[in-house]
Amino acid sequence: MNGTRNLKIACIGAGYVGGPTMAVIAAKSPPGAVDVLVLDKSEVRVREWNSDRLPIYEPGLEELVKAQRGKNLHFSSDVDGGIRWADMIFVAVNTPTKRCGIGAGQAADMTFVEAAARRIAEVADTPKIVVEKSTVPIRTAEAIRQVLEANGRTSFAILSNPEFLAEGSAIRDLCEPDRVLIGGNVDRETDRQAVQTLVDVYAYWVPRERILTTNVWSSELSKLVANAFLAQRVSSINSVSALCEASGADVSEVARAVGMDARIGPHFLGASVGFGGSCFQKDILNLVYLCESFKLDAVACYWRQVIEMNNWQKERFTVRILHGMYNTITGKKIAVLGFAFKRDTGDTRESPAIDVCARLWEEQALLSIYDPKVDAEQIWDDLTRRCHCTRDELQQRIRLAPSAEAAAHGSHALLLLTDWEEFRALDFGQIYRSMSKPAFVFDGRNLLDAAALRQLGYVVYAVGKPIDP
Ligand code: NAD
Repeated sequence: MNGTRNLKIACIGAGYVGGPTMAVIAAKSPPGAVDVLVLDKSEVRVREWNSDRLPIYEPGLEELVKAQRGKNLHFSSDVDGGIRWADMIFVAVNTPTKRCGIGAGQAADMTFVEAAARRIAEVADTPKIVVEKSTVPIRTAEAIRQVLEANGRTSFAILSNPEFLAEGSAIRDLCEPDRVLIGGNVDRETDRQAVQTLVDVYAYWVPRERILTTNVWSSELSKLVANAFLAQRVSSINSVSALCEASGADVSEVARAVGMDARIGPHFLGASVGFGGSCFQKDILNLVYLCESFKLDAVACYWRQVIEMNNWQKERFTVRILHGMYNTITGKKIAVLGFAFKRDTGDTRESPAIDVCARLWEEQALLSIYDPKVDAEQIWDDLTRRCHCTRDELQQRIRLAPSAEAAAHGSHALLLLTDWEEFRALDFGQIYRSMSKPAFVFDGRNLLDAAALRQLGYVVYAVGKPIDP
């Protein structure tokens, strides 16, 4: 019979991936099928998961967690106890880009994955299925196997099950995934059975034809390649946006015409200030590092270009602001609308807003920043790190505003850096009256109705669009 009974699932890492993924597994499994325990070394994070104020914002997450918590979904910082208890252990810890040493700035920092594997090796007494959920370089499963085999007391199956959710739509993506990918070494009987057990978990709600099984290496590499392709599309359309601005074409019209070709498709063709988030850049850098280590220099160079284009786009956007505002923004108040790397998340990791704000800060502008979901502390942390100065120094020229209207009041320009839906609905007539003139809008997400704004009197710059036609 297919299905699981009383399968004890633990997840090491209660972050953007571990928390939502485990909440969905708990919610979608039939009663008695699984018991889920999410573990994190951070007691603060665990306390937040057990409170009314979850540590991350995702549409639909709070309702889901509140419905399952205390039933078949639990959060704990007792990592060792959770490892001992579980039959299946997901590893969903962070794998950031290495900051120093060999491969710095490119390779994935595997410290946290290895630490999790070592804890499992140290304390496991009964057979475990270990599931690599973190995004990792190819052949990490082999390294994990070697660490686990040092245990000597029990057996392990090691699977790769990369996560494809996008922040901001994580719950929908998890509930209705395009596909679930499970990599296992089918030459090993333990891995073969483990693949079936994991397939059975997902099959509670994912159509069987959407659950793909591959060898471990293909699975690990597929995740890096998927993110590289997505980021490549953004950089491709952004490169076209520059050409549009130079030539008078409109990038939205070009994207629509191009995207209607069934071979290309319409998704991920929106021009913008650039991509952000904790994954795209990190995973491409990881891919580049991998290519270099295999001496595939042309391939490494090809993918590196996706990041270079993204950096250029952020810089180009900033230069456009400076040029548009008569080549000086010294002492001018600029309202920054949105700081998260995309809508529907409070996550700022690699957000283009960090780079843009830092460059405007260097130009001596006065910034007033508003984001509906990003914590103030996070903004100060990001900017002190990026601007290499203290919070006191920043606060001489940067303020955080309680609303978009407050940020805009008295400013020379509005900068739209995150595509929050609420920005579309602002009363731009009222805002215009409260601003210094001429009043500029620099729409880094092409969210706003540029023609309507021009009617109100704004000077509008949108990415890849004719300038004040
Ligand atoms: P995150 O930083 O939000 O969460 C990771 C958590 O792991 C942290 O809370 C940290 O305290 C905990 N942790 C680290 N080492 C630990 C240990 N040894 N024991 C216990 N807890 C430990 O990271 P995230 O965004 O959830 O990403 C996790 C992985 O998933 C990464 O490899 C990432 O590339 C991948 N991924 C992320 C996304 C995304 O959108 N964020 C999407 C797909 C895949």
